[in-house]
Amino acid sequence: MDTTTTQVFRPLDSGGGRNRVTELRCNFCGSDRCEERRIEYLYSHQGEHLLVPNTPAEVCLNCGMAYYDAAVLEEIERRFFAIRNKSEEPDRYINMPEKSFVG
Ligand SMILES: [Zn+2]
Repeated sequence: MDTTTTQVFRPLDSGGGRNRVTELRCNFCGSDRCEERRIEYLYSHQGEHLLVPNTPAEVCLNCGMAYYDAAVLEEIERRFFAIRNKSEEPDRYINMPEKSFVG
């Protein structure tokens, strides 16, 4: 089995949400050195997966933990179910990385 990647979701509850200067302290290692990046986010739900490229996230420069905006996660979830219900097309289909399950 693969090791499970732990993702911590931090709701943006500071109101407004327009201020790009975040004072995010990593829950994992306690570092306050975070950088906004765009990374690939894999949403999983009951064995189905949606890969979302260019997902904005705050990434801890110390340990690499990624923090996502609650609004971003809501949009990803909305999109996942829209695609599942065939009301939206995904940007692209992906094949899950081949797992070396033999036999
Ligand atoms: Zn950290």
